[in-house]
Amino acid sequence: MKNAVFNTASPQETLALGAEMAKNMASGDVICLFGDLGAGKTHFVKGVASAFGIPEKEVDSPTFVLIQEYEGTLPLYHFDAYRIASLEEARRLGMEEYFYGDGICLIEWPERIAGLLPEQRTEVHFSHTGPSSRRVEVLHKY
Ligand code: ADP
Ligand code: MG
Repeated sequence: MKNAVFNTASPQETLALGAEMAKNMASGDVICLFGDLGAGKTHFVKGVASAFGIPEKEVDSPTFVLIQEYEGTLPLYHFDAYRIASLEEARRLGMEEYFYGDGICLIEWPERIAGLLPEQRTEVHFSHTGPSSRRVEVLHKY
């Protein structure tokens, strides 16, 4: 898939974008979701999850869990690195094993663990463009 920029006009559209992009995702993919609080990262993950048969209501910001696993037609690992204090802590949690294992990894606040991210990754950058609109830029790093 090529790099691309999308504009969504509602939470539902961000969800739909995630579901659409999921068609091009495969086991081993690492998707890094950049953007401020409320930018739409978790809505995007809900859309990806629904494409793999995981009910979107099961998907929430895993802030207090750090890593949440959903069993769909593929394993989906949803990370929230916001509260990670150091790379050492991320290593201790075994994050790298997920990144280089099976399943799809979706990472919120990836900048907190920049030194641990695989070179082969997809970045999705979310930004606010209005109360209910978001800009979503997709960059493939490989
Ligand atoms: P994040 O995980 O980046 O903090 P969430 O997906 O949890 O963001 O929340 C996004 C918030 O912004 C929700 O309250 C949602 O209703 C709202 N919102 C408004 N417009 C959009 C849009 N176009 N896409 C995604 N979320 C939107
Ligand atoms: Mg979130």
